[in-house]
Order: sequence, then C-alpha cells, then structure tokens
Amino acid sequence: MVTPVSKLDQLPRIGPSLSQKLATLGILTVEDLIYYFPRAWEDLTQLTPISHLIPDGQKRTIRVKLSGINTFRSPYKKMMLTQAIATDPSGTLPVIWFNQPYLRTTLKTGNEYLLTGKVEKRSGKLTLVSPEIERASEVPVHSLRIVPIYPESGALSSKIFRRLCANLAPIIRQVEDYLPESIRKEYNLVSLPEALLHLHFPASLEFLQSAKDRLSFDELLLTQLSVQSVKQFLQSTKAEPIPQEIEFIKEILEKLPYKLTVGQKKALWEIVQDLSDTKPTNRLLEGDVGSGKTIVITISMLVAAKNKFQSALMAPTEVLAYQHYQSIQPLVEQFGFSCRLHTQSFQLGPETADITIGTHALIQESITFNNLNLVIVDEQHRFGVEQREKLKKKGIVPHFISLTATPIPRSLALTLFGDLDLSVISEKPIGRKPIITRALTPQEHGSAYKLIQQEINAGRQAFVITPLILESDRLNTKSAEKEFKNIQTLFPHARVGLLHGRLTTEKKQLVMSAFKNKLLDILVATTVIEVGVDIPNATVMLIEGAERFGLAQLHQLRGRVGRSMYQSYCFVVPTEEEEEIMKRLQIFAQNTDGFKLAEMDLQMRGPGSIFGKMQSGFFRYRLADWTDARAIKQAQEAALKILAESPNLDKYPSLKKKVTIENVTVHSE
Ligand code: ADP
Ligand code: MG
Repeated sequence: MVTPVSKLDQLPRIGPSLSQKLATLGILTVEDLIYYFPRAWEDLTQLTPISHLIPDGQKRTIRVKLSGINTFRSPYKKMMLTQAIATDPSGTLPVIWFNQPYLRTTLKTGNEYLLTGKVEKRSGKLTLVSPEIERASEVPVHSLRIVPIYPESGALSSKIFRRLCANLAPIIRQVEDYLPESIRKEYNLVSLPEALLHLHFPASLEFLQSAKDRLSFDELLLTQLSVQSVKQFLQSTKAEPIPQEIEFIKEILEKLPYKLTVGQKKALWEIVQDLSDTKPTNRLLEGDVGSGKTIVITISMLVAAKNKFQSALMAPTEVLAYQHYQSIQPLVEQFGFSCRLHTQSFQLGPETADITIGTHALIQESITFNNLNLVIVDEQHRFGVEQREKLKKKGIVPHFISLTATPIPRSLALTLFGDLDLSVISEKPIGRKPIITRALTPQEHGSAYKLIQQEINAGRQAFVITPLILESDRLNTKSAEKEFKNIQTLFPHARVGLLHGRLTTEKKQLVMSAFKNKLLDILVATTVIEVGVDIPNATVMLIEGAERFGLAQLHQLRGRVGRSMYQSYCFVVPTEEEEEIMKRLQIFAQNTDGFKLAEMDLQMRGPGSIFGKMQSGFFRYRLADWTDARAIKQAQEAALKILAESPNLDKYPSLKKKVTIENVTVHSE
C-alpha cells in the first residue's frame, strides 16, 4: 500500500526520469509531493458556450467536438502548427496549437473534448490558442474546477503536478493530523487531511479558504511552539558567565584601523553585558549590510577566548564561512588566540582553536569542543531546543547570538522572536560615501559599461549580477553563463570570473579568492554572492534582470559595494523597458535606507516577495502572512496552551516531530 512516507516511484505513472526531476525540487516521498503547495488557484468551474467567448485575456473552458484536424509546418517561422475547428451547440471556433505535432494522432474527429485556454484575434478571427486538452469522458483535472497553479520549476509544469496530485486523494486521507483535537475545535480549523485535499483540489472557494486558514495557522503555530519552548528551555538552564574584560576590549579598539560607530558600540555593550550573566544570552543582532556586525561579534568571541572559552561562528554557506575566516583570523591571531575553519571542504587551523568558523553543520557533525560557550549564527536558522540540548553539559548551555541583515521592524521582531533580545545597528560607518545608484533602461547599458571600464582602469573591481544561472527558454532574462560570455566580449582586456550555485565548493572558493586577491576585475554572479561578501575594492554593482528582485533584495546586493572610502556605483537594469518597472527601480535608486525600502516593498508587492530570503533563513512560510500580528498572537496563545498541557510536547509526539523538523531550515541559494 502506498502511504505518505512511500517513495515516489510507488505511485502509478512516475518513472525514473520524472522522479529524478522531482528529486531536484527536493520531492522524494509522497509526503513531499503533498506538501508541494500550489502558489495560486484559477477558478475554472464554469463551462462557456463558444458564442460567449471574448478576447478578454481570461482562460475559459469549452466542451466541443473537433473537426478538420490538420498539422503542417508554418512557412515563415518553421513551427509545427496544428489546427482544428471546435463545435458546440452555440457555434464554431478555430483552435490552434504550436509545436505539438503528436496532436494529429491523439486528437480524434468526433470525440468530445474539454478545451481550456484564452481566445485571441488572429488575422481578424477569434481563435482559441494553445488550449489544454482533456477528454470529456474523463474526470477533468485542468478544467471545470478550481485549478491549482504550482510554482514554476523548469521542466515540470503545473499540468504535471495537477495530474500527479489528482491521484493522491486516498493517500492524503491517511495523513495523520498532529494538531491536538482541542486546539482544532477551539480555533475552528478543518482537519489536516481535509485542508491538504482542498489546497490541491478545492471543492469551492470556501473550502480553499478553510484549507489556507488551517495550514497557515500550522505554520505560525510551529514557529511559536519553537520560540516558546526555547524560552521555557532557557528559563530552566544556566550559562557560564563570560566576564566583561573592559580593559581588553579597550586594547582591541585601540588597535583597529577605525572607530566603532555608536550603534556598534551599543550592540557590543549589550552583548558583553548579556554574556557576563548566568542567564543564557539569546540575542538577535540586526544591522543593514555593511553596518559592521562582524567586528562586533569578533570582539565578543575574543572576550570569550580571553576567558578561556571557545566560540563557534556558523555561516549559511561554505563561501561565507571561508570569508569570515579570512577577515576574522588575522585579528584573532593578533591578540594571541587561535582560529579554525571547519567545513566539508576545508579544515584549517588547530583543532583546539579558541574560535571555530564553519557552516551550520558544525553542530550536527560530531566535532568536539571542550569548552564551547558562545555560538553565533549568521543569516541561518533559529537555534532550537534540539540543538541547544546537544550542546548542553551538566545543565549548562552556551550563549547564543543570531545575526541578520534583514530589516525587521522592532515591533514585529518582538512577536516573531519572542525569545530573543534585540540589538540594532542602524547607521553605516562614517566616512562612507553614499553609493550612487542609477536605474537604466536596457538601451542605456553603455553608461554602466563605460563606468566599469573607468573603475577597472583605476584599479577597482566590479560585480555583474544576473537572476538566473542558465539560459531559460521560458524567460528571456539574462543568465550568468551567457552574461559571462557577453562581458568577456565587451571587456576583452579585463579578467572576468563566473560564480554561481552550481559550481563545486572548491571552484566557488577559487573564484572568490581570485576576486578578493584582485586577480579578477569583473565577477559575473548570481545572488550566491548576496549575503555577507566583503570585497572593499569592488566599486561597481551592475544588476541585470533587476525586475526579478525585491527592493530589499536589491538593497542587499547594492551593499556588496560601498565598503571602502572609494566612491561606489550601482546600476539596476530590467530585462525590458516597462513603465511600472522603471518606476520601481527609480524608487530604489533614490532610496538608501534598507528599512524604508523593505517597508515600500511590503506595500507594493506584499510580504511574500521581499522577505523570501529571510524566510529561508529563519523559517519558511508558504501560506501564513508573517506580518499579520493578530494571527501571530493567536498562534502564540495556542502554543502556550499546548505547552502548558505538555511542556515537552511528549503528549503529542507527531506534533513534536514537526516542530523540530520545521525548526532547522536549510538555506538554499
Ligand atoms: P555586515 O554588517 O554587512 O556584516 P561587515 O561586518 O562585513 O558588515 O562590515 C563591512 C565592512 O566595514 C568591513 O570591511 C569592515 O571591516 C568595515 N567596518 C566595520 N566597522 C567599521 C567602522 N566602524 N568604520 C569603518 N569601517 C568599518
Ligand atoms: Mg556580514
């Protein structure tokens, strides 16, 4: 029998090639498929008579017989065209499909079909263009219902997902509901199987809403359960205090090539005060890109080292771990302490080092610390009870600091991260010149290229960012691979590098080091370079396909330059010149405040779009609106009720399992 935990190939009609494609999306089991949620829904419940069709850009379904089915090669565009005439009692209509020559044999004159698509005027005649086809004798999947649209994913169309999910109903009914019955009743929520069923195939818009209500409640509840259990856990544990070492800190500050900003000093002060207490530190350090979070935590780790405690710093990727190591190690050694890099591909420095830098796998691996007392996580995930339990020795847990560059309004941070104290660095180091930002139309590329050349001539470096790695036939957006060639042609005398997520870690490392060591002039990259990359000599950031990024994300990218006394520049160029898009990019060009841009993004594009990156860093909401303070409060209240009844969630083992799983999110490019 196929159950939710079965491997996908146990389902009918899933062969090796399809399961391989699904695996690249992380869909390995039936349950993964069930949890691959649609991103939108189309109401196609109505059948439309042919005589009522108008070219209004809306999809409609007609129920018709076909005649005159004919496939031929179009004379000028070298395309295979299939034409037919559709007939229903109200009238007739020409239909056309492109490049689907097999239709000639699969479509049969006289059979009844459901065709779903848009009508357009073609050579003066209303025509149904490339409709989806279903036999009228079969239960419809793509029409006559509220039809789910799945996230765009290369070779896997919504159509394929719909067909796969249409078979899942009996298995979805077996999904265990992990939510306590009492909570479900109290908050008026449908059962989990019912919610999952109606999310994929809603019986009505009302059922869809109740499915969304239930599943978004769950998302918020799981975060709150984690937040609240961390809070309770911390109340039940102690930490070893790390004394403040004021003199030592003064000594470090004197040796720095710059003065700390007011925000940095305040954050450092808050942290060292926390660390000197027996209550475990649990602090979120928030600061815009380039605000200088690294030095603040480096000093904190040095203070720990001075007291003979070990520290660990975890970054989201190996590239960033390596970068942290490069910038932190010299300072640490200057003060007579040792620093170590430990990732899958790199092991540098002594095993007994005072400070260990790695990826989030540091904690999961069996690497041993003999006196770990400070854990710092950069842009990664929340640090849950599970991980703290692992590090606990004789009831004592290490101090914990989390770093983020996402500007989260303070009030929201308090509801979301009820367990964390908050430090904010709100200003940039003094002496930095504001980055000159210009929104260019694709025709104006020349001025960006001219400036890149000028900066290279002056010994500076440039980034060129594209949204995609490879060319896509569906989107004509620039890809890193193609842009790499383009830039090489445009700058024949420059040394150009390419960086994206599909390169091996060693290759990425090599490219990053080469760029850092000024062996490359221009780096063409995807957003793999987004978080934390520090190349002070880079002064130009050219962002291609800029319409595909949120304002907050553009701001993060812009923050990769302007990290020195040199004047820096940022160019944002959309794929196509379009008024709305240019307007949005102009707004970006005129604003330098990350918090403000995040807020505007929120207004213009809704919460989902901007905080995508942060969601992957801290938690992943697909349905819940994490800016909805009322819904979060409600989830918090429910979480407290459940924890009051069963402090360790032992009464609800399947819920407990969910909380830990949801807690550790994997950062993806
Ligand atoms: P982020 O907060 O984005 O992690 P970093 O810590 O990487 O920022 O700092 C960005 C750059 O600014 C680094 O090159 C760092 O050496 C430098 N920096 C940090 N603090 C100051 C300061 N107070 N004055 C001048 N430069 C600073
Ligand atoms: Mg950083």
